[in-house]
Amino acid sequence: MKLIMFSVREDEKPAVKAWEKRNGAEVITVTDPLTLETVDLVEGYSGVCLQQRIDVTDEEIYRKLESFGIKQIALRTAGYDIINLNLAKKYHLKVTNVPAYSPTSVAELVVMQALRLIRNNPIVEDQMNNGDFRWGGMIAKEINTLTVGIIGAGKIGGTAARLFNALGANVIAYDPIVREELKEILTYEQDQQSVLEKADIVSLHVPLNESTTQLIDAEALTQMKSDAYLINAARGPIVDIKALIKALKEKKIAGAALDTLPNEQHFFNFNFKNQSLPDRDLEALMSMNNVLITPHIGFYTTVAVQNMVDISLGSALEILQTEESKNEVY
Ligand code: NAD
Repeated sequence: MKLIMFSVREDEKPAVKAWEKRNGAEVITVTDPLTLETVDLVEGYSGVCLQQRIDVTDEEIYRKLESFGIKQIALRTAGYDIINLNLAKKYHLKVTNVPAYSPTSVAELVVMQALRLIRNNPIVEDQMNNGDFRWGGMIAKEINTLTVGIIGAGKIGGTAARLFNALGANVIAYDPIVREELKEILTYEQDQQSVLEKADIVSLHVPLNESTTQLIDAEALTQMKSDAYLINAARGPIVDIKALIKALKEKKIAGAALDTLPNEQHFFNFNFKNQSLPDRDLEALMSMNNVLITPHIGFYTTVAVQNMVDISLGSALEILQTEESKNEVY
């Protein structure tokens, strides 16, 4: 059994090697993504594994995969929007994803950023870096005195809720799906507005779709308390970023931590040292001392990377051996 894996990063290679050993299969890794230029590399392999930003849109790619005898595409991600599912179906390619690689990975980043915000960490670091060790403006709040509002209490939101509850915070949530198992650690609110009005820290964990695009818009931001913080480690377009920048400038809310931004594919995971930033909104946010930006690294832990490799390659093997996988997306 020989599989080909595209867009492989150095940090994935040890997990790939370990998987090969455990499963007695051969995995060839390439650094390029799957495109019309690279699709011929697949000839001679039995399975394909992908993780890439570039959409696989060209019908010729799907046609060639089928002609090489390929039966599946295993994605190393939860999202599968890079694949044209109609074309995948047309060319008899089963598509699998990794529905959950480590909710804890994102939830821990969120908790860290919440604590950094309430301890005024950006201001403290700014002052310290300038040799100013005075305490003025550094007095902090304690998490056990605050209400954390989770919007979207699914896999990641539910995990974050458990961590905040363990730290003694009062946790409230809005989610149209009420999960009995979360009721002992959080209180469900009737709607989003009620969470926004009550929470000292609002953390977003909804999926990105038509109904959640700009879910947090100018109006939603006015419903938040003026001393509350917003955390977005879900997807950039869920927040109206211009409205957020305005609210921060006008001190309508106290601060924000953002692991995802609109148009992030143009700047996250790139190096702009000694260059100007390519995005005005990013530049504005980076200049604020009550805003924490991370370059979409919520998922990026050793556990999550290992799970992405293991689960995706496992699904590829399942399809090749049994024609079925529990991780098929259609
Ligand atoms: P999930 O499907 O397990 O949970 C999402 C929850 O949101 C569900 O319970 C759903 O009912 C709820 N929901 C949907 N629309 C809602 C709305 N309008 N208001 C309130 N609740 C709503 O998803 P998940 O795996 O927990 O992922 C959550 C988010 O985290 C997604 O946006 C995902 O893309 C993102 N994510 C980010 C990173 C990162 O590195 N920062 C990594 C993985 C996932």
